[in-house]
Amino acid sequence: MYIVQIASECAPVIKAGGLGDVVYGLSRELELRGHTVELILPMYDCMRYDHIWGLHDAYRDLWVPWNGGSVHCSVFCGWVHGRLCFFIQPHSGDNFFNRGQYYGALDDHMRFAFFSKAALEFLLQSNKRPDIIHCHDWQTGLIPVMLYEMYQWHGMAKQRICYTIHNFKHQGIAGADILWATGLNNEPYYFSYDRLQDNFNPFAINLMKGGIVYANYVNTVSPHHAWEARYGLFGYGLGHTLEVHHHKFGGILNGLDYGVWNPEDDKYLAAPYSTDDISGKSKNKKALQERLGLAASDRPLVAFIGRLDGQKGVHLVHHALYYSLARSAQFVLLGTATEPSIHAWFSHEKTQLDSNPNCHLELSFNEELAHLIYAAADIIVVPSNYEPCGLTQMIGLRYGTVPVVRGVGGLINTVFDYDYDEAHRPEERNGFVFYESDNYALESALGRSFDLWYNAPELFEQLQLQGMTYDYSWTIPGEQYVGAYEFIRHK
Ligand code: ADP
Repeated sequence: MYIVQIASECAPVIKAGGLGDVVYGLSRELELRGHTVELILPMYDCMRYDHIWGLHDAYRDLWVPWNGGSVHCSVFCGWVHGRLCFFIQPHSGDNFFNRGQYYGALDDHMRFAFFSKAALEFLLQSNKRPDIIHCHDWQTGLIPVMLYEMYQWHGMAKQRICYTIHNFKHQGIAGADILWATGLNNEPYYFSYDRLQDNFNPFAINLMKGGIVYANYVNTVSPHHAWEARYGLFGYGLGHTLEVHHHKFGGILNGLDYGVWNPEDDKYLAAPYSTDDISGKSKNKKALQERLGLAASDRPLVAFIGRLDGQKGVHLVHHALYYSLARSAQFVLLGTATEPSIHAWFSHEKTQLDSNPNCHLELSFNEELAHLIYAAADIIVVPSNYEPCGLTQMIGLRYGTVPVVRGVGGLINTVFDYDYDEAHRPEERNGFVFYESDNYALESALGRSFDLWYNAPELFEQLQLQGMTYDYSWTIPGEQYVGAYEFIRHK
């Protein structure tokens, strides 16, 4: 099959979170299975150009119809760790992708509507006719809409779309100006409940809803979150739309790129290790303690890595920090906050705790440091409010770092409680789970992990090894995506 991925991120060149990891990892897996994969991405000024090999201009004059006129774009091409990527660079006063950040601009809806339009124009004008177009999240929600309503009449009638939702919270709720800009000019037609009209604001369109309504197959990134989104609150208002389209909606658990995340061969680690001998873990712990100026003592090291955001249960992250210190453990946090109040909160904590030899807060995005922390820590906390899939617990498992998670979304599908999971035999369990989102619930699980570490180190090590033997690679999800592609291709 010939598959084109269209997304706003692809790790490691453009990565704000798990979306980037998934786009890269899935593409690699599909290629390993013999499919042809190309990626279309925005050409941001702030992406990691050092991860692109052989960047050159592939298509100099791409004119993208926009706002009744057209915008001149160039398309660059290069390889990101083996994946063939096309980067779209518009030449217009809007400077859509030269903002020094991937997201967070006031005109984000316009920026990504433009990207969606440009990606389809690029396929059209360069005569690329993939079997499958796979697009991701609200940023590309207009692609299925435009393909069905416009581009199929221009020679793209055979293309089928898989649309993956990584986070229902951000849906791209926008005004009618997006319709006019992209050439979807029939405003009353799109402002109908069964098309793009937002389910709660009748004066707004919802780009993610458009993706759900028009794509051939829609999925979110774990089976449990698919259920939560359809029946619970985590569809953020799109539950009814998912219900209407349930025949083409499912959940496919994300995989982890075992080429990138491999403690046996990870260039960012101080010492490699594997299930045969995990003693290398303690060398990484020492290296991290040295690097971050922590006391060089042997006590449990707890880590949190992730966006500091309401979704991630920041109040519980905060409590986990103080509870760990109270239980004589060390705590390392690596995260960034986009919300100023959360940033101010954790900056304040950082100042307060700066001289504490058992605690380090790193408020930045640092891929290299993240690898070392995963390897060095004994326990990783993921106390999310909701979690479509979650990669940090899976990376933790791969690196022998025991996950302590809240039982929501993909966390339920991947972590099985050491003491209480009756669906799994003791030798299949791999972490600790709590359900309520209060401090006591967190303590009940984190406390049990400390008890095991302090009182039965050999059992703790056994639990680490059990986690490491789980296969959360792309092998199974890759097969499931290919199955979904085959299904819609022949429809
Ligand atoms: P989300 O996609 O909701 O942000 P995931 O758990 O799916 O969360 O994926 C998070 C990914 O981003 C993981 O690969 C994690 O290691 C990485 N990550 C998050 N924050 C940081 C950070 N500050 N520095 C380095 N890597 C980070």
